Amino acid sequence: MVAGVAGTFARLPRIEDVPRHDVAVAGIPFDAGVTYRPGARFGPSAIREASRLLRPYHPRLDVMPFRDQQVVDAGDLPCNPFDIAAASEEIEAAAYALIRDGARLVSLGGDHTVAYPLLRAMHRVHGPVALVHFDAHLDTWDTYFDAPLTHGTPFRRAAEEGLFLPGASAHVGIRGSLYDPDDLTADAALGFTVVHCADLEHLTVTDVVRRLRARIGDAPLYLSVDIDVLDPAHAPATGTPEAGGLTSRELLGIVRGMKGLNLVGADVVEVSPAYDHADITSVAAANLAYEFVSLCAKAPR
Ligand code: MN
Ligand code: MN
Repeated sequence: MVAGVAGTFARLPRIEDVPRHDVAVAGIPFDAGVTYRPGARFGPSAIREASRLLRPYHPRLDVMPFRDQQVVDAGDLPCNPFDIAAASEEIEAAAYALIRDGARLVSLGGDHTVAYPLLRAMHRVHGPVALVHFDAHLDTWDTYFDAPLTHGTPFRRAAEEGLFLPGASAHVGIRGSLYDPDDLTADAALGFTVVHCADLEHLTVTDVVRRLRARIGDAPLYLSVDIDVLDPAHAPATGTPEAGGLTSRELLGIVRGMKGLNLVGADVVEVSPAYDHADITSVAAANLAYEFVSLCAKAPR
């Protein structure tokens, strides 16, 4: 039994202390792309703090995620707080360096802008991925105040560059007010299927998992989870909260349903700890990241 490392995700070893890794966990302390509440740059440290209680065995997946594969904490990726385009390039380059030899990547945001450079890095290694995007919001708007790179636009930019497979991709948890009815039709043109929160009035978690898996097939899978997909009761500490969201049990259940698929990367973003109470949001995010790492252990090698 090796003593854990203080301050890393789940007390994992630091990347520089092991010769190689199967899975890298990295923080991205970037929040210059937000439209409402700031503070997600402090998400990585809060999620790491909440991850100290994670234990070695995942009973539902029957896996020892930190024993069956080499998982490391890769620290925080560089990201210029004054220049979003420069930060995007930095994040893409640093993420690519972590995955170019075939490793999987679990990222702790940061605001949702970071999904765009992460998908670019994934595309360089895997080509277009199946993208399952959990969020209250579509994040496929064209611009905000004429800005193309924001936390509301990453998947529009990704669609323009062909970074994901439209027929294999989905939004889950969409709800809340929009700017215009055209928001939905413009998004639909990008090819996503949508599981709206209201659909969970008649669909079970098992139904949603079945629908997602039928789309994903054996494509390389990327999961992007905006913590605001959870109801504010389950995740108060986020930038743009919307009432009527998923429970943490529903989210963890749907994510866990991706077991056995070829998960190549995942992120949890938009944790803004200054708005938290009793670490509710960072505990949810830490447990979600644990699901991601455990899914990596169940993925085909
Ligand atoms: Mn959102
Ligand atoms: Mn988002």
